[in-house]
Amino acid sequence: MTDLHRLSIRELSEGLKQAQFSSRELTEHYLKRIAQIDPKVKSYVTVTAEQALAEADAADAALKSGNAHALAGIPLAHKDIFCTQGIKTTAGSKMLDNFISPYDATVVAKAKAAGLVTLGKVNMDEFAMGSTSESSYFGATGNPWALDHVPGGSSGGSAAAVAADLAPIATGTDTGGSIRQPASFCGLTGLKPTYGRVSRFGMIAYASSLDQGGPMARSAEDCAYLMNVIAGHDAKDSTSINKEVDDYVANLNGTAVKGLRIGIPKQYFNVAGLDADVKARVEESLKKLEEMGAILVEIDLNMTEAYVPTYYLIAPAEASSNLSRFDGVRYGYRCENPVDLMDLYKRSRSEGFGAEVQRRILIGTYALSAGYYDAYYVKAQKVRRLIQQDFLKAFENVDVIAAPSAPTTAYKIGANLSPTEMYLGDIYTLAVNLAGLPAINAPVGFDKDSLPVGLQLIGNYWSESQLLSIVHQYQQNTDWHTKRAEIAEENA
Ligand code: GLN
Repeated sequence: MTDLHRLSIRELSEGLKQAQFSSRELTEHYLKRIAQIDPKVKSYVTVTAEQALAEADAADAALKSGNAHALAGIPLAHKDIFCTQGIKTTAGSKMLDNFISPYDATVVAKAKAAGLVTLGKVNMDEFAMGSTSESSYFGATGNPWALDHVPGGSSGGSAAAVAADLAPIATGTDTGGSIRQPASFCGLTGLKPTYGRVSRFGMIAYASSLDQGGPMARSAEDCAYLMNVIAGHDAKDSTSINKEVDDYVANLNGTAVKGLRIGIPKQYFNVAGLDADVKARVEESLKKLEEMGAILVEIDLNMTEAYVPTYYLIAPAEASSNLSRFDGVRYGYRCENPVDLMDLYKRSRSEGFGAEVQRRILIGTYALSAGYYDAYYVKAQKVRRLIQQDFLKAFENVDVIAAPSAPTTAYKIGANLSPTEMYLGDIYTLAVNLAGLPAINAPVGFDKDSLPVGLQLIGNYWSESQLLSIVHQYQQNTDWHTKRAEIAEENA
């Protein structure tokens, strides 16, 4: 079978159950595609072929015995920020170039327990800081829709791998948009769950009060399958919430689009850098939802201007604290021939961290230092609360809020945006993390250069089922999510 990489998670699950193909065949099929195509895309940092085949054989045995999980035998790729026992976990950094975790992240452990097969670890911006995946120590990844463009970031490897059909599904993390923006740039569906829905244990920390893992896939249905596996309380993550988990697959048609009130924030559609094609495609998708029965309601989100400065104080502040452990002694890269302890710290950190990570450590350390703490960090925390209240007020009147996921489509590799330009590109995603809300990206068409455009839907707390259901129904009525990048076509 040559088109196994075209099958959805549901089709794969059924095919495996009915023994139309084995997990070993499916895994070999994907490994072969990775060997052929990934040298062009460069989405994988590590391919774990041997282990994948062993896991596939175990899944096949479970499938034969008849009591396998729905996803047993289905391959996936993990963002290289999730710790994997016995497999390198680099977080895209020289600092962790040789790091082998002694344990699995909870997300990884849950995927394994369900019988999912790990194809490997995929590229990302260093320590998840960035929007292009170019800050990775392992080099840039190509966008399958145009290989000289970035796949977005920081979960760019996850997005590129799925968009090039080099994995049917992948995990990502989202601290300020890193699931939604690469999903948008690569024409995928990606869900950032409510803060606390997915365990952060074993997920290398960037900004702990904002980080959240989630699925990246071709459709809302595929995302729902992975959410069923990875969501839930974890005693090892004190911020994970002990709250019943929905059956996301069973609920895919559970939300009525008819009568659904979708808020359209005035401020969002007047952002200076919003590309005309992005705006047009997003508006068309909203028209479609309106045709399906949704009611579009103009709303105000008055704090919009505060998103970028607030996030870019809080995230670096937390990062500077989280990354202090990488000192060449406790963790990570150690410089050669240090003359004394201070030299060891300084050189290990200067040589081990890339420029963007160093910039954020400096900003964060400054913002947290005595004398500036109140003026910057405490103030940002207060504004963060106002941003959250702005959303909660909006949700009194609407069910979900619509926005672009990013103001533009994918940038060219090497476009060399200034840090400020890059940060402004995160305008539509940051507030969701500051407020701890769930949000989803869905592909809704292409710009004049045939690059994908994404619609973002933001929900109230714990509305993952609702978001997946709305996008699922949109996808039943449109075919944007079925479009495949040419790189995948060529090599089919
Ligand atoms: N682009 C944002 C940043 O650089 C978000 C990254 C993320 O969500 N991990 O911080």
